Amino acid sequence: MEAMVNNIRVEKAATSKIHDVDFDNLAFGSTYTDHMLVSDFVNGEWKEPKIVPYGPISLEPSAKIFHYGQSIFEGMKAYKDVEGGVWLFRPMENCKRLNKSAERLTIPELPESYFMDGLMALLQLEKDWVPKNPGSSLYIRPFMFASGSGFHASPADEYKFIIALAPSGAYFSGKVKVLIEEKYSRAANGGVGYAKAGGNYAGQFYPTQLAAEKGYQQVIWTDDNNHEFIEEAGAMNVFVRINDTLITAPTSDRILDGITRKSILDIAEDENIATEVRKISVHEVVEAAKNGTLKEMFGAGTAAVVSPIAGFGYKGMDYDLPVLAESYAEKLKKRITDIQYNRAEDKFGWRH
Ligand code: PMP
Repeated sequence: MEAMVNNIRVEKAATSKIHDVDFDNLAFGSTYTDHMLVSDFVNGEWKEPKIVPYGPISLEPSAKIFHYGQSIFEGMKAYKDVEGGVWLFRPMENCKRLNKSAERLTIPELPESYFMDGLMALLQLEKDWVPKNPGSSLYIRPFMFASGSGFHASPADEYKFIIALAPSGAYFSGKVKVLIEEKYSRAANGGVGYAKAGGNYAGQFYPTQLAAEKGYQQVIWTDDNNHEFIEEAGAMNVFVRINDTLITAPTSDRILDGITRKSILDIAEDENIATEVRKISVHEVVEAAKNGTLKEMFGAGTAAVVSPIAGFGYKGMDYDLPVLAESYAEKLKKRITDIQYNRAEDKFGWRH
């Protein structure tokens, strides 16, 4: 059965799975909606996206995604307000970042209209899947990969762009203990750290597993040169509060330009919180922890929004962070989520 939604062709699923889903007990990113958006790059161009039932895709064993890792993705969310309105947060930033990642991985860039029009049509069709429980959202996963085949190490000639949706509960990890990494690196100068390339995450799993065995839930990556400077966490940028100044590392070749990170910097400025975007040495953080000027550390990213850090490990020592009555993490999380869920004025024009 074919229909059109916002000028996008839709092949509707025969039945909906929505009534099988327990919206009160959603995990993060592990239940999928009825439909997905698909566009194929063939014969040198991206074909018009279409919406089809969510389900398996078929690839040849020689598809280059399996061998050379041409694979990138994005992560964003749709939020439902109390009146049932559905909102996105700065979606064009994700679209632009996807194409930045595409360029770095030699994947053909996708026309912005395909991304935005396709996403709007898909959300129009799946709006009942956006959960309304506090803190829950519809996680949106746009991704692109090499579907073209060949065992020669060169870019594929065919690609797929897909958007799949996952209704998700609040991503609550509690306060995490992190390990400041001394040996492994996530990214290097001139590398692909700034891209959301699948391989960046594969490379993090092993050191993160080693850290977990020692009791740390996350790794804080440091520069690949001498492991002297704090960079970012697994899927979050990192903020450090020393006295009353909020500091985060500048984005670079090695650090993902997080949308939450830059929004938090703008909100902090609006709240008259002093911010600094500069290199943060591990030495500075350790000294600040020792002399009591290290007040807070937190991660910032789409999934958890703001994830407070309880303490960190470094060179065999553990350092605890104080518990504050008024934390920046809490204040900033409230401001940003109030904008995302349409509970407050959006003076920055971020809601869509
Ligand atoms: N760093 C990395 C490595 C990430 O994967 C993410 C998640 N996209 C972030 C930072 C945070 O980015 P954003 O705020 O855009 O989700």
